Amino acid sequence: MRILPVLAVASLSTTLIAAPAAASTTTLGPTAYGYGGAVATVDPTATAVGLDVLRRGGNAVDAAIATAATLGVTEPFSAGIGGGGFFVYYDAKHRRVSTIDGREAGPATMTSTYFIDPADGLPYDFPEARVSGLSAGVPGTVATWETAANSWGTQSLAKLLKPAAAVADRGFAVDAIFRQQVADNAAAFGQFDATSAIYLPGGQPPAVGSTQRNPDLADTYRLIARTGADGFYRGGVAADIVRTVQHPPVSTHPIGTWAYPIRPGALTLQDLARYEAPRRAPTRSDFRGLSIYGMSTPSSGGTAVAEALNILEQSGLSAADRTKVLHYYLEASALSFADRGRYVGAYTPKPVLEKLASDRWARQRACQISPSAALTKPVPPGDINAQGCTPASVGGPTEQGQATTNLTVADKWGNVVEYTFTIEQIGGNAMVVPGRGFLLNNELTDFNFTNTQAPAADPNLPGPGKRPRSSMSPTIVLKDGKPFLALGSPGGSTIITTVLQVLVNRLILGQSLPDAMAAPRASQRNSAGIQAEPAFHTTYGPALTALGHTFGPDAAELGAATAVEFTGHGGFVASAEPVRRGGGTAGVVHPNR
Ligand code: GLU
Repeated sequence: MRILPVLAVASLSTTLIAAPAAASTTTLGPTAYGYGGAVATVDPTATAVGLDVLRRGGNAVDAAIATAATLGVTEPFSAGIGGGGFFVYYDAKHRRVSTIDGREAGPATMTSTYFIDPADGLPYDFPEARVSGLSAGVPGTVATWETAANSWGTQSLAKLLKPAAAVADRGFAVDAIFRQQVADNAAAFGQFDATSAIYLPGGQPPAVGSTQRNPDLADTYRLIARTGADGFYRGGVAADIVRTVQHPPVSTHPIGTWAYPIRPGALTLQDLARYEAPRRAPTRSDFRGLSIYGMSTPSSGGTAVAEALNILEQSGLSAADRTKVLHYYLEASALSFADRGRYVGAYTPKPVLEKLASDRWARQRACQISPSAALTKPVPPGDINAQGCTPASVGGPTEQGQATTNLTVADKWGNVVEYTFTIEQIGGNAMVVPGRGFLLNNELTDFNFTNTQAPAADPNLPGPGKRPRSSMSPTIVLKDGKPFLALGSPGGSTIITTVLQVLVNRLILGQSLPDAMAAPRASQRNSAGIQAEPAFHTTYGPALTALGHTFGPDAAELGAATAVEFTGHGGFVASAEPVRRGGGTAGVVHPNR
């Protein structure tokens, strides 16, 4: 667990490095109770920055932007201005949920065979596709922040970038996870001087406890502060991004060896200049009187979570029988993933999305679940045109899927931000844009390289300017039109099941939010074997196996969620992971426990 002495929050500008722990009496941990505003992230410095903005009168949007910019410094392998994400916002004054689609976009010249090697007609191996210019889409993060600040913020983007720039200048202490993320990427990072200069000092991952600085990133933040998003999408930064993509800056003296050719990509200055982070209508579904709002396409998170919850609602489960609840959770998740794979991509028509999130569709799918015997996986997708208990549609199974970070912020006025953003794999495409201090994403590898649904069409093949399908599932739950819970997580396609499982734990099993977050996780994404954390496998494996479930290899951990629950009368429970990813940090403006 990473703990930040509260003293560092109070005087952030001078205590980012080696805050004087001896002087502090309170610490920020994974759970906080209180009022006045709440922030939960994976990182103590980012949470502290968000709390500081709230304390000085900023609203949830202001705090979310400042927090996100700080995560771009301290969690650079998971998220940052070289990537994209989805921002979901509940506006208390207008009682409205809005979203911003800051997903990366592919080049205008991208075709369905983008990831097929012309030399042999076969798809590129994943590492070859990832560490290339091909994989980088137009980053959406800066446009997202500007849109959010202009639409709902009370402070300028320039002001909100200041604390993060200060962290980048002054540095922060490297922890074990940061070091490990570099070590896992050392061969890829070592191919690019701009990356190894920042992250492989002396040719090695930085030592735990050493100070990590990034003055180039601080300068890039200051440039954005002066010039706005235009300064990123046009002009010098855009030119540097395009040059990096089109002519990957491969070192003449690489550190270590990389087994694949490093291919150029096709992004152009026009692709960057044309980029927009549009506001989109959220997905909406109901669960036991609660309204569940999520992210629509190009994310599949909103519809997949909605469909699975609707299926679970059909089964009328109670907390009394935990095995049965977990059985239905796994079955509903597999059915929902089958439909996601078959139907959901950037251009899925609205009526199809609405149908997938409807109670009628849930009845058609829920009728396939037996209380006593697990379905054989993978299950086929349902036929969207059929009536009644759905005959299977033609088409193949779905895919598997890790990086990304998530933050939750709520303010004293009742506004809430749930924001998940990413550079796709941990370390993105491994290329720091020279002189600019940020890693580029490899988000375009979220497209399917070949048709996974043949003979049916695959909704997630690459296409001109298209945005790849995501699993990011920032979710806001309203009760009687007011916020009750907000949550999200990283974890590739396991994001959907992590968000769903925390909701199942909280809403069906009746666990407290911190317990719902800490509980062991399992993910059934319509594959032969369930991917479970060891504690889940040990505890529930025997009973679920008796029902016919099959377990695949265990995962050390699934997700790194953050959440805030509204407890009434202005109170909050802010919750981050107690253990996963080294433990997260939740804080409230006025603690009362
Ligand atoms: N690129 C993934 C998505 O958009 C997220 C990556 C991750 O969380 O590992 O679904």
